[in-house]
Amino acid sequence: MPELPEVETIVRELRPKLVGLRFRDAWADWPKTVRQAGGLEHLRKEIKSRKILTVRRRAKYIVIDIEGKKTLMIHQKISGHLLYGKWKLIEGKWVSTVAGPLRDDPENRFIRVVFSLSNGYQLSLADQRRFGKVILADDDKVGELKEIRELGPEPLELSLKEFAALFRKKKGKLKQVLMDPAFIVGIGNIYSDEILWRTGLHPLSRVENLSDIDIRDLYKVTKEVLEAAIKRHGSSMDDYRRPTGKLGSFQEVQRAYHRTGQKCAKRDGGIIERLKVGGRSAHFCPVHQMLK
Ligand SMILES: [Zn+2]
Repeated sequence: MPELPEVETIVRELRPKLVGLRFRDAWADWPKTVRQAGGLEHLRKEIKSRKILTVRRRAKYIVIDIEGKKTLMIHQKISGHLLYGKWKLIEGKWVSTVAGPLRDDPENRFIRVVFSLSNGYQLSLADQRRFGKVILADDDKVGELKEIRELGPEPLELSLKEFAALFRKKKGKLKQVLMDPAFIVGIGNIYSDEILWRTGLHPLSRVENLSDIDIRDLYKVTKEVLEAAIKRHGSSMDDYRRPTGKLGSFQEVQRAYHRTGQKCAKRDGGIIERLKVGGRSAHFCPVHQMLK
C-alpha cells in the first residue's frame, strides 16, 4: 500500500503538471470508487470545466483543490496509484497511446478511473484490487469528513517535543502504534519495518517501556527514513508506480521489509524474521532489534 513517501512523490510530480488545467470529464469502471463523490454522474457535473488550484497531500490522501470551493480527494488504498498520460478506450479497456512504462508495465494497466484534462492529457487511477476511492467535498467541509477528522499528525511536521509528548501518552506494541493513522499518519508496513530496523527496536516493544533516548532516536530515524524514501520516489517493491509509470527506488535500500531469511545488513549474524503484529507482518532482525 502506498505510504507517505509514495503519496508525497505522486503529489510532487503531479503538481507542476496539473495546476492551472481544467477537468473536462471523468470516467470510472467501478461504481464503488466514486461512491463517496456522490456517484460518477454527480462527480462529472461538479468537476466539469473547473480549474485545478492546488495538489497536496494529507496523510495518504491526494488532495486536489478546484475552483468553485470544491476539493477532490483520492485515496489509493492497497494497490492504487495515480498516473498522468494519454490513454484510449479500446474495447472497454484503457490502453496507453504512448510507448513506455504506462503501456508496457502490467502494474499500470488496471485503469479504473480516468479524469480528462484541458490539455488533452488524462489523470488515471490504476488500481488492480479496486479499493481506491474518490471523495468530492466542499472545501470548507473537508476537515469535518470522518476520514480526515480522525487522522493523527503528520510525522514530518512534528517537533521532537511534540513527537515525544505523543509517545508518552500512548501504550501498545511499537509496530502497531507506528502504523495507527489516528496516532500518526502515513507510516505503514514498509516504513515501520525500516524505521524499527534502523533504530534497533523490536516491533513488539511496548511504547510505555521506551526511554527518552529511544524516543529521540525514533524521531530522528522516522524523519530520515521518510525523507530518504521521498528522495528515492518511494518504494516499488509492490505495485506502486510514479505518475509517469516508472518505479521508485527505495526498495533498493530496504533492510527489513520482505527480507525474511536474508542476512541482516548490519552483519551481526542475524537472519531477518517475520512475525504477526495486529494482523500485519513485521520483518526484523532478532539479533540487533531489542525488545523493550
Ligand atoms: Zn541485525
